[in-house]
Amino acid sequence: MPSEFELIRQFFVRPTSHTLLGVGDDAALIAPTPGCELVISTDLLVEGTHFLANTEPFDLGWKTLAVNVSDMAAMGATPRWATLAAALPAPTLDWLDAFSRGFFACAEAFKIDLIGGDTTRGPRAFCVTIMGEVPAGAALLRSGAQVGDSIWVSGTPGRAALGLAHLQGRITLAEPQLDQCLAALHRPQPRVVLGLALRGLATAAIDVSDGLLADLGHILTASHCAAKLHIPHLPPAGLARDCYLSGGDDYELIFTLPAAHRRFMTPLAVEIDLPLTCIGTITSSVPNTSDRLVIHDDQGLPITPTRHGFDHFL
Ligand code: ADP
Ligand code: MG
Repeated sequence: MPSEFELIRQFFVRPTSHTLLGVGDDAALIAPTPGCELVISTDLLVEGTHFLANTEPFDLGWKTLAVNVSDMAAMGATPRWATLAAALPAPTLDWLDAFSRGFFACAEAFKIDLIGGDTTRGPRAFCVTIMGEVPAGAALLRSGAQVGDSIWVSGTPGRAALGLAHLQGRITLAEPQLDQCLAALHRPQPRVVLGLALRGLATAAIDVSDGLLADLGHILTASHCAAKLHIPHLPPAGLARDCYLSGGDDYELIFTLPAAHRRFMTPLAVEIDLPLTCIGTITSSVPNTSDRLVIHDDQGLPITPTRHGFDHFL
């Protein structure tokens, strides 16, 4: 069995490209770009709560970093550095090797340096702290939505939850949907390019980790607004609709746009090869919280969702 430091060296040390001092000392040294603000976020993934014990380790490594990268995307930030704290049961080297390859596949895709961490024996859990940069004052916050803004979502929300439902035997998906949904669940693609493009255009943004309605609700709360949704191509009532509205783990972006910026969305969607769908409007700034969100389907019929999203403590 390799020593703790041997494990770290073997699986968690890779060359860095924009770090003064990485893994190996008491702490890392980084030099933020002059004129930029540091953007910092942490996410904890615990076996049994956030991932199943039998998750493929490569996928888990990818996702451990990807969910953090998604928070950078939602801020309009460029992800730059990360630390990784890992609790591991007696390490199986094959498992760690695949985990680390998945983690670094994501790190390389988004040009992130892993600059430190901590490794300890325990029930399997991973905590990443990610650091990114944004030009001073340019970050996309949850609190900027304005009355009259349109509300947009990227990609196809609900896929990850549908993929999970398939794995749990609650539905049976057919190709090509099955592939799309399992990919969304196992290899979420953080929308960094979109987040960067939205700087200076969007008034507010958030990533969909807990469900579209729940996460849009966070924008409305932070912006003291209400919204009316009219969602094109909303699936008919049933599991697919519930997943679209309330499924978590998609890591798409929801954002709000002033009228003058709408015209940029069609060319942007083509440029980044990602659907961008207008799903509603910010309606008022003095909401009655009970009808903060009014939802209509394709036909304009009102919808009452079964639940808004995922909450660990409900
Ligand atoms: P210390 O005792 O100073 O906390 P450690 O022995 O925990 O140092 O870690 C040694 C070095 O390895 C440090 O630079 C630390 O940041 C890094 N490190 C430890 N675990 C990980 C990990 N899972 N991923 C990346 N770097 C790690
Ligand atoms: Mg330590």
